[in-house]
Amino acid sequence: MSDVNWWRGACIYQIYPRSFLDTNNDGSGDLPGITQQLDYIASLGVDAIWISPFFKSPMKDFGYDVSDYRAIDALFGNMNDFDNLLKAAHQKGLKIIIDLVLSHTSDQHPWFTSPDKKDWYVWADAKENGMPPNNWVSVFGGSAWEWSNKHKQYYLHNFLKEQPDLNFHNPEVQKEILGICKFWLDKGVDGFRLDVVNFYFHDQHLRDNPPRKAEQGFATQFESDTPYSSQSHIYDKSRPEMFEFLKTLRTLTNQYDDRVLIGEIGDDHPYKLAQEYTKGEEHLHTTYNPHMMSGTQKNLTEDLIRKPIEEFYSNKSDTSGWPSWAFSNHDVVRAASRWYNEPFEHDPRLSILLIALLGCLPGTIFVYQGEELGLPEAEIPFENIQDPWAKETWPQWQGRDGCRTPIPWDDEQPFCGFSTTEPWLPVAQSHYSLNYTDQLKEKHSTLAFTKRLLNWRANKPEIIRGDFKFIDTSHSKIIHLVRFDNKNETN
Ligand code: BGC
Repeated sequence: MSDVNWWRGACIYQIYPRSFLDTNNDGSGDLPGITQQLDYIASLGVDAIWISPFFKSPMKDFGYDVSDYRAIDALFGNMNDFDNLLKAAHQKGLKIIIDLVLSHTSDQHPWFTSPDKKDWYVWADAKENGMPPNNWVSVFGGSAWEWSNKHKQYYLHNFLKEQPDLNFHNPEVQKEILGICKFWLDKGVDGFRLDVVNFYFHDQHLRDNPPRKAEQGFATQFESDTPYSSQSHIYDKSRPEMFEFLKTLRTLTNQYDDRVLIGEIGDDHPYKLAQEYTKGEEHLHTTYNPHMMSGTQKNLTEDLIRKPIEEFYSNKSDTSGWPSWAFSNHDVVRAASRWYNEPFEHDPRLSILLIALLGCLPGTIFVYQGEELGLPEAEIPFENIQDPWAKETWPQWQGRDGCRTPIPWDDEQPFCGFSTTEPWLPVAQSHYSLNYTDQLKEKHSTLAFTKRLLNWRANKPEIIRGDFKFIDTSHSKIIHLVRFDNKNETN
């Protein structure tokens, strides 16, 4: 039987399947592409893979808008492909975490289109003047309410209008959601990354959010200067009813020995919430903490790394708390460019340093595909933009496509071994020379370093589950972190 605490201090490799490897040459990556590269992934020294959504979806938000939670979207393959992937990964000692997007569905989900499930979503009357019921805004911009001519009411969507929010106050919704979780647990997946886990419940009185005070809390990974960031989100998310639901979900998960619940939190006070969500081992196992990926943090300073870690541990009680950290993912500018502070540039020395830093942080760590190659953010011309959010904000903010481009597997023109057909997003010119095949041959490449570092880390108990302390220096650019288990210290 495997260690029930395997996830504590684990290294989890995130795959954005659409851009990983295309085996059927339709321009999009697929599940067989992941299966094909399992040896490579295992060689990195990681414990598990988190796969971004591959469920049936109209792809308005590239899979984060699900229209059937029990089916694989044909773009990625079929259930057989998933079963093969799961089996092959387990044979190689790799765990599989799937990404469940449960706070909202697609507007094409039969629940949303069916006449007898209206109360599975959040509907409300217009104000007397026809305006939306309150001041809640969507993370992606504009009101969080969309008018339906059919129902003569507004419905709630915290993200795109094509992503209506489920009404978790309805017990039938909770029951169905737990059934979906059971379906995948029975299949043998090793856990869930729960998308926007603090968004499930809303205030049933639909009270207006108050303005956010300038100094209040941390920015989330999505925020810069937007109407969303001007509110204090005390009524549209992070509601107390969540605890009961998490208890039920944890009870279900505990029936399966060693599975893990990882919640993505976006909140002004993510670390306080992280403690509450992981308290007493009756809710989540760990939370995915976004602050180090925040769009407002363009410089790598000591404060940026030290503050969230200390904030997390200062809220920690005896029975709670295991943090998870990431520098990059499919929603943010790749750290190699973000912290180089040039939009699409990078320096391999920084990429290497970032892997070393991430690998030594206390907690579970996430490496995003391409981070091991030191890929910079890709520059996407407007005509190739796919992210619906970017279409609204380009060029001021160029959206999330730049971190989602295909992985360069070799230097073959024009698609670097990702596909033989033009991919859904272009392969970045700046990625050609950073391709996997060339880096594999090069002793001092970012890839070679990543493998050494992560495999070294995997055998260092003081780093995986040990203690830590930050040492004060007088320089904002020096991070001095010591990891120890009282017997061994590593600087
Ligand atoms: C995912 C995003 C997605 C959003 C809405 C997130 O936090 O990571 O990619 O757009 O949730 O589902």
